[in-house]
Amino acid sequence: YLFSVTAIRGKDSSLSGIVLLLRDVTRLKEVEKLKSEFVMAASHELRTPLTSLGMSVDLLLEHAAQDLSENDRELLQAAHEEVHRMKALVNDLLDLSKIEGGRIEMEFENVQTSTLFDHVLTLFKNQADMKEVRLTSDIKGKLPKVRADANKITWVLTNLISNALRYVKKGGHIHLAAVIIGQHIHLSVSDDGPGIPQEYHSRIFQKFIQVKGREPGGTGLGLAICKEIVRAHGGTIWVESSPGRGSNFTFTLPSGQ
Ligand code: ADP
Repeated sequence: YLFSVTAIRGKDSSLSGIVLLLRDVTRLKEVEKLKSEFVMAASHELRTPLTSLGMSVDLLLEHAAQDLSENDRELLQAAHEEVHRMKALVNDLLDLSKIEGGRIEMEFENVQTSTLFDHVLTLFKNQADMKEVRLTSDIKGKLPKVRADANKITWVLTNLISNALRYVKKGGHIHLAAVIIGQHIHLSVSDDGPGIPQEYHSRIFQKFIQVKGREPGGTGLGLAICKEIVRAHGGTIWVESSPGRGSNFTFTLPSGQ
């Protein structure tokens, strides 16, 4: 049941009644579960044929491209890009439906934030260098370890950094930061890219929402997956940004031992 309680007060603000609202959400939950099971089954079935299709196109590009006319080669190149985009989409859909359906086991351990940061900084060093983007990090004070599934949090950081890298200009700056506030550690990825208009700040964490008029590039599922992973850790994720002034994505994780 979902429930809410509202107090009714008289003119002198004395309590004159209470409204209790109960809503049975069993059916809604069942529909949600069926929906994510369907998406999971469909994306799982699509993965195998897409993988072989991708491999065939890759092999053709590698071995037969020189025998093709320029036009045919362009067609094959376009097929190659689309197949890989579809594979990324199907993989993201599968991940998301698994998390939503509670099918992904979280393997919690106590991890140092610096270990998480060092790992992603190494992963992205080449890409950042190639785009002449400065990738820096800063851990404020001596932080306790976080209670987290290291692989899943690496996935979140990876997704936030690759988004930032997609949107910052050559010569831009991406910064990772961590700080403890109360019982939670706040991790953030900020960039000096184009920023995100206010009306999108909560919507971009929903599936398939992309800022209009901007080159899409990805699947529109990345931030939805980030949100589910962070939620599974008992944390929250949000963005602070305004157009032209960069974006700052922050998420919280509980502190461990
Ligand atoms: P996508 O696969 O499109 O990157 P996401 O869910 O990761 O999907 O992001 C949703 C949308 O949010 C992106 O399409 C983009 O419009 C916007 N966005 C995400 N990160 C940034 C960023 N660092 N700077 C500007 N816009 C961003």
